[in-house]
Amino acid sequence: MLRELAEGFGAVKVKKADKMYEITKILLKNEGNPVIIEDVDGYGVLGNLYSSRKNIAEWFGVPENKLLEIIWKAIRRGRKPVNGEFRLRKMNFSLTELPIPKFYPRDGGNYFTSSVVIAERNGKRNLSYHRIMVLDGERGAIRLVERDLYKMWKDAVEHGEELKVAVCVGLEPTFALAAATSVEWERDESDIASAMRLLAKNEREKIATTPFGIKVPANVEMVFEARITEDAVEREGPFVDITGTYDVQKNQPIIVFESMYAVNNFLFHVVLPAGYEHKNLMGMPREAAIYGRIKDAGIDVKDVKLTPGGSSWLHAVISIKKRKEEDACIAIQKAFEAHRSLKHAVVVDDDIDVSNLEEVEWAIATRFQAKLDMVMKEERGSSLDPSRFSGNLTTKVGIDATKPLGRDYDFKKAKFVDFDSLMKILKENLPEHEMRSSDPYRVLVATVISHRTKDEVTYEVAERVFEKYPDIYSLAEADEEELASLIYPAGFYRQKAKKLKNIAKIIVEEYGGNIPESMDELLKLPGIGRKTANIIISRSFGRDAIAVDTHVHRISNRLGIVETRTPEETEKALKKVLPRRHWRDFNVTMVLFGRYICRPISPKCDECPIRDMCMRIGV
Ligand code: SF4
Repeated sequence: MLRELAEGFGAVKVKKADKMYEITKILLKNEGNPVIIEDVDGYGVLGNLYSSRKNIAEWFGVPENKLLEIIWKAIRRGRKPVNGEFRLRKMNFSLTELPIPKFYPRDGGNYFTSSVVIAERNGKRNLSYHRIMVLDGERGAIRLVERDLYKMWKDAVEHGEELKVAVCVGLEPTFALAAATSVEWERDESDIASAMRLLAKNEREKIATTPFGIKVPANVEMVFEARITEDAVEREGPFVDITGTYDVQKNQPIIVFESMYAVNNFLFHVVLPAGYEHKNLMGMPREAAIYGRIKDAGIDVKDVKLTPGGSSWLHAVISIKKRKEEDACIAIQKAFEAHRSLKHAVVVDDDIDVSNLEEVEWAIATRFQAKLDMVMKEERGSSLDPSRFSGNLTTKVGIDATKPLGRDYDFKKAKFVDFDSLMKILKENLPEHEMRSSDPYRVLVATVISHRTKDEVTYEVAERVFEKYPDIYSLAEADEEELASLIYPAGFYRQKAKKLKNIAKIIVEEYGGNIPESMDELLKLPGIGRKTANIIISRSFGRDAIAVDTHVHRISNRLGIVETRTPEETEKALKKVLPRRHWRDFNVTMVLFGRYICRPISPKCDECPIRDMCMRIGV
């Protein structure tokens, strides 16, 4: 099972390795890439399996930035898995003969690191990761922090019993991530895995009953039947944990392995301590929890990243679309609530990529003032942070690196706009404009009809008008009622009919039927403004002019090439920034762009071909 998955992820193949340090060396060299080592003491080993988020996202069939949403929805919803078949074969084993690595020189021993322990007791089921240090052929010391499995084991001990468990090694992404979530006592992480699968692949997870009675994922590589003993304890550790530092030695319970079941030619899954895979598996469910908690507070959270430099555990960068000044502060508070080990949280605007630490640092440098924007408090933090105070107390810091609302121009990073490329890209990516004619009569009529009317309606209506009134003379003689009925369903059709007839009469009577060519003369016509005049001048008479309608005004401001309040101001400003060679085409190009991509509401920034040149002011 795992072989096929790893090969699908483009696994690197290595022939042979020693389980003493050599596996670490190979996995470190191939960080971000799955590695299959064919022969470690005669067994296959698989490492770095989930070290690339891109691979995980591909398996789920979603873009990387949608993974958090899937995990969060799955945590929230949960779905019962269905029953599957237990297909693993019982095999003889000795822990000391299996390819269980020793990773670092000071490690207390050889370690299981991908081991998900499943326990069922008094109607409660629990799946969670626990490292296990091999003591001999059948015993290990299991690290139990004071969470669900620990409580189940304590309960068993108080009743004079041992806790029977299944130790699973080698899980698919759903169970691998679900086992790392931290949810309420009554929840079964299998339901979260099942909900993830349902969201990603429209099918439920299958779980199968082992011969020793505990239900495990049906698609697992290996399962051990084991029991956590009553009171025997052994020194466990030191061991390199997610921070890359050695975790301290502690007395831990002994787990006794009784039987082993596996697929034929199994691959033993190892997770490199503090490697990308370790960080992804531990970090992603916490990112989803932070994301969900902030979303539940009514804040438009866009992305969350537990940064690799913060060991994917202690530092979070959160991007939000700020609607109120207090949003960032609330997001900080919710992040600390959702992930108790979190030490530093930085909240940025959604123009900052949370995975790009240079951008994050830039936001802190330019949008943050410690006196105003910092939250600091002392609370219980991570036991994995070597700088913590006694009692796991730590100083938590929240940084609001968002810009003040309404001050985009002062706080957004300037973008270089190459107008030649911008116009070329847009022309290549947009359909042809419906208005192909440059005849001044047609341009004038269509432009008057287009006021407050959708483009599709404008050109359909204009064609009807041209059929009945092919020139300015026939329009001057038009029956106003009939003209209005042709213009309908365009908005203000009565006023437009009146205006067109009036303009046509003036042109026939005062200009001999010729549409004036100059701005001054065009503006003398009733109801003709600068936009219409500029369109006629540029399109019909081939002179350089910039016609500014709502699309041109809005998009120019969003791009950040002008900072204006009215179309008139925009026209003036554009004349200063836009190379003259683009004046004539600018209107038509922006009209189409504004219709299909940079729409007035919900612009499609994700698919925008000129996103790299846009400051996204006010978006
Ligand atoms: S990135 Fe968004 S706001 Fe900027 S031009 Fe494209 S669609 Fe418009």
